[in-house]
Amino acid sequence: SEPTESPLLAGLNPQQREAVEYRGPALLIVAGAGSGKTSVLTRRIASLIDSREAWPSQILAITFTNKAAAEMRERVESILGQASEGMWISTFHSACVRILRREAEHFGFGKNFTIYDSADSRALIKRIIRDLDADTFGFTVSGVAGKISKLKNELSDVESYARGANFNDPQERVFLDIFREYTRSLQAANAFDFDDLIGQTVYLFRAFPQVAALYQRRFRHILVDEYQDTNHAQYALIRELTRPIEQNDLPLDLQGRGALGPASLTVVGDSDQSIYAFRGADIRNIVEFERDYVGAKVILLEQNYRSTQNILSAANAVIANNFDRIDKKLFTVVGDGDKIVGFTGYSQHDEAQFVADEVTTLHGEGVDYRNMAVFYRTNAQTRALEEIFIRSAIPYRVLGGTKFYERAEIKDAFGYLIAVANPADPMALRRIMNTPKRGIGGVTEANLQSWADAHGVTLRESMRAAGEQGFGPKITGAILGLTKILDEVGETADTAPVPDILITLLERTGFIEALRASRDPQDEARAENVEELIAVTKDFQKNNPEGTLLEFLTETSLVAAADEIDDSSGTVSLMTLHTAKGLEYDAVFLTGVEEDLLPHRMSANEPGGPAEERRLFYVGITRARRKLYLSLAMTRAQFGDVTVAMPSRYIQEIPPELIDWRQSPGMATSRGGTQPRALNVRRDGGSSGSLGTGSGYERTSAPGATALARAAARAAQPKTEWANTVTGKVRDNGDLTLVPGDRIRHTDFGDGKVTAVTGVGPKSVAEVQFEKVGRKRLLIKLAPIEKL
Ligand code: ATP
Ligand code: MG
Repeated sequence: SEPTESPLLAGLNPQQREAVEYRGPALLIVAGAGSGKTSVLTRRIASLIDSREAWPSQILAITFTNKAAAEMRERVESILGQASEGMWISTFHSACVRILRREAEHFGFGKNFTIYDSADSRALIKRIIRDLDADTFGFTVSGVAGKISKLKNELSDVESYARGANFNDPQERVFLDIFREYTRSLQAANAFDFDDLIGQTVYLFRAFPQVAALYQRRFRHILVDEYQDTNHAQYALIRELTRPIEQNDLPLDLQGRGALGPASLTVVGDSDQSIYAFRGADIRNIVEFERDYVGAKVILLEQNYRSTQNILSAANAVIANNFDRIDKKLFTVVGDGDKIVGFTGYSQHDEAQFVADEVTTLHGEGVDYRNMAVFYRTNAQTRALEEIFIRSAIPYRVLGGTKFYERAEIKDAFGYLIAVANPADPMALRRIMNTPKRGIGGVTEANLQSWADAHGVTLRESMRAAGEQGFGPKITGAILGLTKILDEVGETADTAPVPDILITLLERTGFIEALRASRDPQDEARAENVEELIAVTKDFQKNNPEGTLLEFLTETSLVAAADEIDDSSGTVSLMTLHTAKGLEYDAVFLTGVEEDLLPHRMSANEPGGPAEERRLFYVGITRARRKLYLSLAMTRAQFGDVTVAMPSRYIQEIPPELIDWRQSPGMATSRGGTQPRALNVRRDGGSSGSLGTGSGYERTSAPGATALARAAARAAQPKTEWANTVTGKVRDNGDLTLVPGDRIRHTDFGDGKVTAVTGVGPKSVAEVQFEKVGRKRLLIKLAPIEKL
């Protein structure tokens, strides 16, 4: 009789099924967005374990974020109905940290190394530029940081760079000095930067074949999601792990135990979603996969399970404009769905108001806040959105804004933990040396460092010897006091529970006391954040009863923007398009779809240029399940100026019949201005059966049909009810306050009466009933108004 279908394969289409069942050395799954690449990868892991072809510990799966990793693990375990200990599902960075913690001692690092995030790297580069007077050669911190990162992603180090360098060029000589000093400082601090995590692991495998052999033997199945965004170093890492094992490299007791060929490799990706070229991602990795892995099987998936046909048709039409790609068309069977909604506002505030109104409407119709997301190209765009979301009482979260772990007080607290875990790291010491204030100023710090340099010891050792350096008794006492605490706590670092270590440090150093005693209201919030960090350590310990300080530092040092999403909270997610990769939402708002923003005006100078920007737009569109909104503003305060914005070229690439256009109320008729002839304005509200877009917004035939015609006229005088600038100069009313009943005069709108005031401080907004132009909202601090 027919075997009953395994639940592992239930519901899969034939191509997906083949992708789960195929067995062979190399498999490439290329497919458009939402076609089930990540789902197939997940089922493939489950299938390998379920069929006993692999132990969980033989699986290494790479995802783009820690959150995606956690989800994949959960899915695999729920399909299998059992926990799968030993399975490695993680990001490239996390996997490499785990490997380096075990193996770094092979090449002169301690396993207690510190991971420098990009802020730490920049701080270090800044010091080096200063010490070498390199700014006189035109070197900037971000320029140097970018170049070093690029080199590391290409696996260049100081030596290989030096071999190709032109020593007649003083610029290059100085850069080489900076690069060398940077590398030396990291080594002396027992620290890796983000790029090193990958690059040094590759180096480790290449330099120590016996180490590589152990991991080649362990990981029999390697699977990589979002392969299109791997850079050369990541590619090389995978290459090392999938080499045939040299039996001689294995320890004697493992030699000859099963003649093992290379590990099997499965990669999934979509070259149309490659959006990290600026970080060294190399689309060739996917294009050349077949060359690198001879005999590789390629499977295409074409059915999209995420979005409606209208959304897909828009995505297909847009991406078709990128040349040099393999054409693939996505289809779906879920039907056309609602039209895409386009919106044009006068300003980014109108745009934000529209988004907020739609979010509220959708929520009223039963769409959870957590199933809605707002995307933008640049972080600066969040300000207007947040302002209006707060006022509209919409719960939201900004992903990748000032992250918890980037807050100063949190980094300070981490400084203490790192100083305890890795005494060689001077960065952490500098951070905490005078936090809280204990009289150890910049001069003292510099003297301690010089002494360290002169004696060839670390900053920490120099601090221990503070008594020999001629400081006054007070300063000497402060330095020795701090060193004593760090040393004493350090003795328990491998054994004590993490919360105990943190609390001891914060209490003995007076850190928390200083925050609590402060009269600065901000310090209260800071103290709360530190309490929150203590709670994080307690959580960690609960989940990892044996967990050490080092493990805690590892876990927390690699949190990426998309990891902050907390699905259980009912909030709308705000994020950049780059963060949106791999995610999906019922309703997606893609804002700022304007020239200079999307494509971004800097993109012309970046690798891939506008083609990469188009892929970014494609990624944004394809996140939407049912509702997609594309919005733009006619004027936008950005780059320190109010500019007239034009609709993005990408909008023209979407077949017009797919989009339903709206604009700000009154845009077509009010306040004079020229009326375009071909305007097709209806005011019939939302059509029945579709979600959202009920109220108040006018329909029109094209993006800002009215707007465009008026944009030129407005360019000379870019004033809206929100605009606060005249030819780019920002007005500031200082501490002007208004209360309902006050009468005011506005330079454009004339006289009016305040009817309501909301918000506080610089964000307070007055609602004003003007005699001539009706009701308007004004940001009190900035509006061109005076009190009568
Ligand atoms: P992206 O390119 O955006 O990363 P993807 O190709 O990884 O997308 P998935 O996230 O795996 O796609 O799948 C998209 C959606 O389709 C998910 O909600 C998934 O559960 C669903 N899905 C995938 N395959 C099927 C199927 N055979 N039947 C029903 N739903 C499916
Ligand atoms: Mg995916």
